[in-house]
Amino acid sequence: MAVTQSSAVTTCKLLVGGEWIDSSATEFSEVFNPSTGEVIARVPMGGAQDVDKAVQAAQAAFEEWREVPIVERARLMFRFKNLLESNYEEIARCVTREHGKTLPEARASVQRGIEVVEFACGIPSLYTGESIENIARNVDCETVRHPLGVCVGVVPFNFPAMVPLWMYPVALTCGNSFILKPSEKVPLSSLLIAELLIKAGVPKGVFNIVHGGRDCVDALLIHPLVRAVSFVGSTPVAKYIYETGTKHGKRVQSAGGAKNHIIIMPDADMDQTVQALQASAFGCAGERCMAGSLALPVGEAAEELLPRLVESAAKMKVGRTDVDEKIDMGPVITSQHLNHVRKMIDRGEAEGATIALDGRKVQVKDAPNGFFIGPTVIDKAKPEMSVVKEEIFGPVLSVVRCQTIQDAINLGNNCPYGNGAVIFTNSGATAREFKHNFNAGMIGINVGVPAPMAWFPFTGWNHSFFGDLHIQGREGIQFYTQQKMTMTRWFAPRSGKFQDPIWKERNK
Ligand code: NAD
Repeated sequence: MAVTQSSAVTTCKLLVGGEWIDSSATEFSEVFNPSTGEVIARVPMGGAQDVDKAVQAAQAAFEEWREVPIVERARLMFRFKNLLESNYEEIARCVTREHGKTLPEARASVQRGIEVVEFACGIPSLYTGESIENIARNVDCETVRHPLGVCVGVVPFNFPAMVPLWMYPVALTCGNSFILKPSEKVPLSSLLIAELLIKAGVPKGVFNIVHGGRDCVDALLIHPLVRAVSFVGSTPVAKYIYETGTKHGKRVQSAGGAKNHIIIMPDADMDQTVQALQASAFGCAGERCMAGSLALPVGEAAEELLPRLVESAAKMKVGRTDVDEKIDMGPVITSQHLNHVRKMIDRGEAEGATIALDGRKVQVKDAPNGFFIGPTVIDKAKPEMSVVKEEIFGPVLSVVRCQTIQDAINLGNNCPYGNGAVIFTNSGATAREFKHNFNAGMIGINVGVPAPMAWFPFTGWNHSFFGDLHIQGREGIQFYTQQKMTMTRWFAPRSGKFQDPIWKERNK
């Protein structure tokens, strides 16, 4: 059992060496149902002792797992995929309960995670090395891939099922063992999915889970047996993970926060644009690293866009996602985060922007203790304002009205982040100009959230990513493997009992 149940509150266990065990931690963190504010679980805030147990188990398991033929490792993923699909609804409901996103959003996120497992099922054909025969006279050269060993994943709260699934299906199929450190705010989906991986037949110790915060992560980052660390979270922590991990000799891929720009040209299809912009800014209550959080209407686009967007967003139904499937937007993750989002809106107002739609006023009648805030549009913001420069990570869209597309591109290119950027236009030439010159790693053309599917890498730039090889796609396989090159030369035998006539001929 992944949890201990006492009254309504469950206590999360660690998964170490195939067993669910109690942590040695004495401190616990609370997990909430953000729709009601109720505590639904406790997570141990573990440290070096828990981590060492998990790493030792993972290292022992790795020695055998790396010898399992890759097609058998891929078959584990086929079984895992079937189990994820047959438990899809239960996982989505668990995501909604601990995170607060709507059920359709939770289902979609589980589907994106399953697609990574589908990708992992096909890894054998991407695992191949390269070879050149006769690279020098009678010399052949080849590369093959080897797994690294114990790999670690440290993940954020905003996609409790999907982001962990970006990592370990690929790492495991490549032959590594893995330790997952779920977000202490949303650990339950990871535990539920781990039960399915066990059911699919993952050998003991190949997949492990530890819980905690900074102490736990630090112990993972400095443990001598950990070979690689995948991180997704906020930029300051991403930078810290990259610097600390690489200092201790680990391979690190570290994805950080974002401020994603959406340029709207006057020639855009405004019906489609309003819909896509609303979904991008307010979907998942704005708690997405690819959320469009800054709109840059160019020229007269603002006059048409803003009234329509505000009218449409004002109609969004905000409420309890745990009991109502028809809600458009759920709560944010915690009361502290709710206060942070509110304060950012206050700051925008104090700095002189216009609050065109004010989510601070939204109340949800049947859930007075839920962490709710409504969709908010901050119009006429200026480039130097905090609501333009900082990631808010809530349902807040800031708008800077631009004179020309060049103004909009310049604004984006001065931003320290570089995850996503989007343009809405009907002009191919304008779209190409934007695609070529905008300083971000994931570009959308008439697509509100250009998050890549499992077959492509999640190519954040600037302070949205630290490292060389991104998460997902073929770069994921490169990250979780090391290459071995072999040069071979065989001499024709000159002596010995058996002298095939062919060698006599060659040695003449
Ligand atoms: P966070 O950085 O607070 O936490 C992420 C993880 O790091 C958690 O597991 C947490 O326990 C751990 N952690 C927190 N502080 C730490 C510290 N000082 N030292 C070591 N570990 C620490 O992020 P969050 O609030 O959970 O998630 C939201 C952030 O994640 C946003 O900034 C969002 O943009 C980002 N995000 C980025 C991507 C991407 O692909 N670039 C995807 C999803 C989320």
